[in-house]
Amino acid sequence: MKFNSQISNLPIYEAGKPIELVIREFGIEPQNVVKLASNENPLGCSPLALEAMKESIKCANLYPDDSYYELKESLANLYHVSSKNIVIGSGSDQVIEFIMHAKLNPNTAMLSAGVTFAMYEIYAKHIGAKIYKTSSATHNLNQLKEQYLAHKDEIKVIFLCLPNNPLGECLDANDVYEFISSVDSDTIVVIDGAYMEFAKFKDSKKAINPSDIVKLNNSIYLGTFSKAYGLGGMRVGYGIANDQIITAISKLRAPFNITTPSLAAAIAAIKDQAFITQTLENNFKEMKIFEKFATENGIEFIPSYTNFITFKFDTSRDSTQICDNLLRQGIILRNLKSYGLNAIRITIGTSKQNIKVLETLKKEI
Ligand SMILES: *Cc1c(COP(=O)(O)O)cnc(C)c1O
Repeated sequence: MKFNSQISNLPIYEAGKPIELVIREFGIEPQNVVKLASNENPLGCSPLALEAMKESIKCANLYPDDSYYELKESLANLYHVSSKNIVIGSGSDQVIEFIMHAKLNPNTAMLSAGVTFAMYEIYAKHIGAKIYKTSSATHNLNQLKEQYLAHKDEIKVIFLCLPNNPLGECLDANDVYEFISSVDSDTIVVIDGAYMEFAKFKDSKKAINPSDIVKLNNSIYLGTFSKAYGLGGMRVGYGIANDQIITAISKLRAPFNITTPSLAAAIAAIKDQAFITQTLENNFKEMKIFEKFATENGIEFIPSYTNFITFKFDTSRDSTQICDNLLRQGIILRNLKSYGLNAIRITIGTSKQNIKVLETLKKEI
């Protein structure tokens, strides 16, 4: 059978390895596996969300409220925007897909930083659109501007991952707003704020406010319940933009694209901002231990505004070998070789997990 030509060259997103694989292949007891590969919340999720999910499954026979009225109202209150400025996705990944389908075709292009979230490129390739990246791995606004101006007629989507996965750096909000204002009204600037809760907690200069984004005609803010909210398994994300953009991309949303328990979990999770504060405090307290370890062991790292830290190795060390050796001992980290980097990305875990990771890593480097 023949398939569309873009399928043959399509890269497959390398997801973090599951705990089940380590148990199966290396015979490690489940309680001894440490999974810090997918930027999940090591504290779990809010107990309010757990309770709401349990309650919601009693209605498993019913479709969820497809208007997502209550979730949109909660998000609207949280971000000081209107419900009509919000679209809900099965993870913010799905909102990325909506944007791509709304703006790209094989005669157009997307632009991003040199090393950033792999799904941008993968979705662009689904459509057969062209991909431009900066030579700088991290976000460099001068280079982004240069590339944009050089291919202005083609570029219809620009991704800014703020802060950036998998490198952890973050642009200042003022510079971002200035950049967006230099972009044409027919090109959408996507602010992927998957880790924004972390960035703005560390430094208020990084805070991009969705209430500012909705005033613009060429930008969308993406958020997710998968990271700070600890609900990766529930698959809920959202886009916030002016109503013209939301109306257009909402047409691509299939009905009931998130489940009844997912919806209940997200609504309840927003109510528990104390859990978010606890998550953020634990994250940056524990991050210091990783920074100290890197400094003491001659490992390069980029100061991180996220819930992970990326260690870059010199040529005397090999990230693939380090990751494989750790995996055999039940520790799952993210190798960044597929991004062309001799580096590993480590999600900040609980104190106990972090101690174990660093003790094991010390023996392998
Ligand atoms: C995790 C992540 C997302 C989306 O995750 P979902 O689980 O699909 O909401 C989007 N962008 C970046 C950069 C991420 O790291």
